[in-house]
Amino acid sequence: MAELPILPTTVIGSYPRPKWLREAIRLNKAGKLSDEELTEAFNDAALSVLHDHYVAGIDVPTDGEVKRDEMVEYFAERLKGFRFYGPVRVWGTAYYVKPAVVSKIEYLRPLLVDEFLYTKSISYTDNFKITITGPYTLAYWSYNEFYRTRKDLVFDLAKVINQELHNLVNVGAKIIQIDEPAIHSTKEDIDWAIEAVNESLKGIDAKLVMHICYGDYRIIAPYLNEFNVDQINFALKIYDYKYLDLFKKYDYNKEIGVGVIDVHNRRIESPEEVKKDILSVINYFEPNKIWINPDCGLKLLPRSIAFQKMVSMVKGTQMVREELKKKGYTDTISLR
Ligand SMILES: [Zn+2]
Repeated sequence: MAELPILPTTVIGSYPRPKWLREAIRLNKAGKLSDEELTEAFNDAALSVLHDHYVAGIDVPTDGEVKRDEMVEYFAERLKGFRFYGPVRVWGTAYYVKPAVVSKIEYLRPLLVDEFLYTKSISYTDNFKITITGPYTLAYWSYNEFYRTRKDLVFDLAKVINQELHNLVNVGAKIIQIDEPAIHSTKEDIDWAIEAVNESLKGIDAKLVMHICYGDYRIIAPYLNEFNVDQINFALKIYDYKYLDLFKKYDYNKEIGVGVIDVHNRRIESPEEVKKDILSVINYFEPNKIWINPDCGLKLLPRSIAFQKMVSMVKGTQMVREELKKKGYTDTISLR
């Protein structure tokens, strides 16, 4: 069974694309770089990100999602049933192309299998993570112009996500994160939204993680234990950890991925600050059920800042591990 150090460090998924990759994409669109050359650039970018993660000391890395333009668009482009309108602003100066659902959602071909296999071939550890956008968020961030209700759309998306997850497990995926940043957007949808997420995870034999970030956690807190996942990771730093009381109140009992890095702020947290934050979280949860991560993907930060933030996160975590060792905790935990 795979082992990890206690308080494993990970990333949420996305990482800043190297500037040269953005240039390569532009050249490809202008017809000055072939598709084959662009694929090579994407692969080289994934390699650079893995290298950053390795140097920073991340225990459970990703490929930085550098091959995906955006977390809804990427999937919508590859599933039957979507078409595209213009870009919509999401955060500061970031835009995404909001897709519309115009016919029944169908699975045409694997979405992430190539990305997974390439990451596997270059990863410095078997404990790397593959991320996928969940059915509720895919639906919530699209226009529904076909299904009678959003619920009908989400359940059809759950089916195709489930097909993709089976394909990923078949090629060896061991840690899968389902991204559901929109899951707590609408109180009235929560009951069936949980059911749909669980439907998308049905029969998947892997370590399952869910990512929930910005918004009002009071809506979702009472239901967190109902998700069929091993772990949920949250944006917590930006809220100064105020939701931990709430999670405790509702007896949250899964592993928790604690966001200790604010990805919307360019200020680099110090290792001491990370250490202090983790120690305060240990007052709420058992250390062997805590993972350490940034609040969200690092994509929108300048690359050097994203890297420094990861370095601080790892150093702060290592300082806490030393303290735990003195208290008699084991050095390692098993993956599942
Ligand atoms: Zn997020």
